[in-house]
Amino acid sequence: MSRYVSETKTILERLGVPAGALGGQLVARSPLDGGPIGAVKPTTPEAADAIIGKAAEAFALWRKVPAPRRGELVRLFGEQLRANKDDLGRLVSIEVGKVPSEGLGEVQEMIDICDFALGLSRQLYGLVIASERPDHRMIEQWHPAGVVGIISAFNFPVAVWAWNAALALACGDAIVWKPSEKAPLTALACQALLMRAIAQFGDAPEGLSGLIIGERDLGELLAEDHRVAVVSATGSTRMGRAVGEAVARRFGRSILELGGNNASIVAPSADLDLALRAIAFAAMGTAGQRCTTLRRLVVHESVYDALLHRLRTVYGAVAVGDPLAGETLVGPLIDRSAFEGMERALDTARAAGGTVTGGGRVAVEGAEAAFYARPALVEMPGQTGPMLEETFAPILYVVRYRDIEEAIALQNGVPQGLSSSIFATDMREIEQFLSAAGSDCGIANVNMGPSGAEIGGAFGGEKETGGGRESGSDAWKGYMRRQTSAINYGRTLPLAQGVKFDI
Ligand code: NAD
Repeated sequence: MSRYVSETKTILERLGVPAGALGGQLVARSPLDGGPIGAVKPTTPEAADAIIGKAAEAFALWRKVPAPRRGELVRLFGEQLRANKDDLGRLVSIEVGKVPSEGLGEVQEMIDICDFALGLSRQLYGLVIASERPDHRMIEQWHPAGVVGIISAFNFPVAVWAWNAALALACGDAIVWKPSEKAPLTALACQALLMRAIAQFGDAPEGLSGLIIGERDLGELLAEDHRVAVVSATGSTRMGRAVGEAVARRFGRSILELGGNNASIVAPSADLDLALRAIAFAAMGTAGQRCTTLRRLVVHESVYDALLHRLRTVYGAVAVGDPLAGETLVGPLIDRSAFEGMERALDTARAAGGTVTGGGRVAVEGAEAAFYARPALVEMPGQTGPMLEETFAPILYVVRYRDIEEAIALQNGVPQGLSSSIFATDMREIEQFLSAAGSDCGIANVNMGPSGAEIGGAFGGEKETGGGRESGSDAWKGYMRRQTSAINYGRTLPLAQGVKFDI
């Protein structure tokens, strides 16, 4: 049993999780000590089918509610999150092992996206388009898309759902969520808070927000169900390939947010003090379990030795341990298979000529069943082998470069395209990195690491990262359907392109 079991129970009660949802066969474990913290009743396929059906019925009503009124529901949900931030943040830390500021940060991100979606509910703008025909007007408007299915990963167990849920609800959609089987308790907590907001709202249709808890088969069910108009799936590229294909087969729409293999370039003009701090957070923060974690460092040969000397010291000294029990920056990996994946990648790197600093399991008292790993810094002779894959653990591979063209080619030379960054003060190199011939990623930062996105921008990446965009900017359009209308207010019937058809 985990030492966090009774605290978890108390938090779940305070957040209003119904007792009936607990006590089933799906065991939730805390990676902080590896012990069980609760059990959840998985949703049967029949119940999931009924939940999707209810959501489809709710959608038919919700789409007719004026958008600013829909925004009011999102506002109420944001208020619930504000009032319960400490509890939910703590639960995130317990269930997936995040340091306290990151657990709370995830809830803050949920609050931020609610604020954003509330504003958006008065700004779902269309267009008026000049018509080529006399006495005609053309418009483009955005209508709610339908039921939005949300499949989420363990590493952002609550924020990613909120990105999707807040926008989808403001846009007039109903939602059905299939959270990670590794984080069912935070999902129950979020659903309970949304249910409170729905009760306060008063007249939202029943079934507007559904939760289906279980393994990947429930995700497959969502992907294959023709009643689900949009499937927004966050997770590994392997999962995204399966979901993308299933959704495309039935001509549904998918938003895919998949694995990253993110690089930073350290140019000769870089501020090395700033770069060092940014690299440490981006590579080791969240124990390397962010989709935007820094995994590859491309360093100019003129600053390589100076930077690597300092990085080795940081890697040797960083505190690893239970972040709720002491002052540590690096918490546990989610489970044994994550640790084994890290070990395998390090073995492959060694076989490819890499020199490894760090790595290996860290023993933490009272947490013998948990998997804590020392972050690893791996100097590679070239960009080969495990550098081309995403290993979801704190491994930072380092290679040298000679000119900026080579650095950009290395940055782009992997199958994934999520996030990237450059450390430089030379304007020409920075602009080259940000140009059309520069980074090929969805995110390209300057003088900061690739991780830690704000909700105001569109989030997502190219190539095997899946091409989806969520969160800010105009990502809301992914949750609506576009309609173009031509309106003839004259008494004749001129046809487009001068076509004649007189009867
Ligand atoms: P995962 O792919 O194992 O699981 C993610 C979710 O997909 C889970 O809910 C799982 O049950 C479900 N799933 C798995 N296979 C499925 C299938 N064939 N059909 C339908 N559903 C399926 O990922 P994970 O280990 O939970 O999370 C880590 C991965 O997520 C990393 O690759 C990381 O980069 C990625 N990630 C990406 C982003 C992003 O925004 N790009 C954000 C967070 C995490």
